Amino acid sequence: MAVDQNLLRKIPKVDILLDLALEKPELTAMPRTYLVEAIRSVLSDLRQNAQEQNLAVIPDVSTLLEQVAEVAHAKSLFSLRKVINATGIVIHTNLGRSILGPDVAAHVAEIASSYSTLEYNPISGTRGSRHDHVEKLLIRLTGCEAALVVNNNAAAILLILSDLAKGRELIVSRGELVEIGGSFRIPNIMKAGGATLKEVGTTNRTSRQDYAEAIDPELTAGILKVHTSNFRVVGYTDSVSVADLAVLAREYDLPLIYDLGSGTFFNLQSLGIHDEPTISQTLVAGADLVSFSGDKMLGGAQAGLIIGSKKYVDSLKKHPLARALRVDKMTLAALEAILTLYLDPEVAKAKIPTLAMLFAEPEDIRIKAEGLRDFLAPLPGIQAEVVPTESQVGGGSAPERPLASWAVAIEAHAMSPDMLEEQLRFSEPPIIARIFKNQVLLDARTIRPEEFTDIVEAFSRFRGH
Ligand SMILES: *Cc1c(COP(=O)(O)O)cnc(C)c1O
Repeated sequence: MAVDQNLLRKIPKVDILLDLALEKPELTAMPRTYLVEAIRSVLSDLRQNAQEQNLAVIPDVSTLLEQVAEVAHAKSLFSLRKVINATGIVIHTNLGRSILGPDVAAHVAEIASSYSTLEYNPISGTRGSRHDHVEKLLIRLTGCEAALVVNNNAAAILLILSDLAKGRELIVSRGELVEIGGSFRIPNIMKAGGATLKEVGTTNRTSRQDYAEAIDPELTAGILKVHTSNFRVVGYTDSVSVADLAVLAREYDLPLIYDLGSGTFFNLQSLGIHDEPTISQTLVAGADLVSFSGDKMLGGAQAGLIIGSKKYVDSLKKHPLARALRVDKMTLAALEAILTLYLDPEVAKAKIPTLAMLFAEPEDIRIKAEGLRDFLAPLPGIQAEVVPTESQVGGGSAPERPLASWAVAIEAHAMSPDMLEEQLRFSEPPIIARIFKNQVLLDARTIRPEEFTDIVEAFSRFRGH
């Protein structure tokens, strides 16, 4: 059968459809390029269908415009956009680690959209230092002599090693040569910083004697201790405490550097985490330089915070790499606001989402899960029940220390768990859930009540499938 030329002729022209599309406010708001691409793609599908003769009539213009709107909408979604974290992993690296509370986010937005005192002192009318905003708070909170903030903790280690150990050796225990993920490996950072690694001890045991024997007065630049964030060696193990290493470092007049990884101001005993030193404890124990991330347990923005002796920190500030690794004003705004919350620990726990989620009482999580279930259960085709589950700290912190939590277990329209999990990811915003024992779980620990509406809407949409 020949292609129906009549049908092909009825396909509207791009310009005509574009003019009609531009009468719709939701379509005028989109980048014009995406809109034109969407129209072309809808029309080209139509042409192909007509040519392959699986089309009896050309749909009317309003139907075509609906298709255009859908295609254009998908094109104009930001690549980096909000998702709902229903995984129960609080510091979820792939989902952006820590989130900011509304007050802190508002402060960041203000600093981002105004000129600011970034490097200016309005009282004296002279140039100021961008280091000051956060340094004075870190001094107050940790008792350190000086502090510096760089782009992330990996950058902090790179800067410290480049400044203190370039062309010389740093002593590290074999039990601490960790890979953090995203290809951050301590040995590689050492190489990049121009420092040679002097490995001592074994994977499971390193003694004070091992460190002492490795010290070479000519070559040794310092001792590096690394928090074994994301793994745990159990059984016959031994490592040297910060306090003992500090005594040794002092004896040889060497700096003791501690990559603390996550870093927390809180005692984590109530979470069942008993061996995590607080940031201040590492300084009291005698570390000369301590570095940690701004967006792990601290709950702020991506940054590497370095605290310690003025002598060493001042030298870091002057290193050329410090300029290359410096943070943006938005990061400084977030950190200053977050650290201000830490002045009152109870306020910090309530207002910093990462801390609020970590320290949430299981009972309160259960009540939240029941609230969500009560919205979902009445929807047609949906079964929802509240079940106990385990969430995780995440961010390579406290592995194998699950946190008791509650989730809503969902079944929808007899979809398989894999299919439902996928459909949830296709929602807007995407909902990232977890499958456990053949059930799709929405862990209430990391879901915020203001996200309930989006979740309910996503499930209501499944109805047609
Ligand atoms: C996470 C981590 C890092 C890397 O920190 P970023 O802020 O992600 O660069 C380095 N060392 C340890 C021990 C860590 O846990």
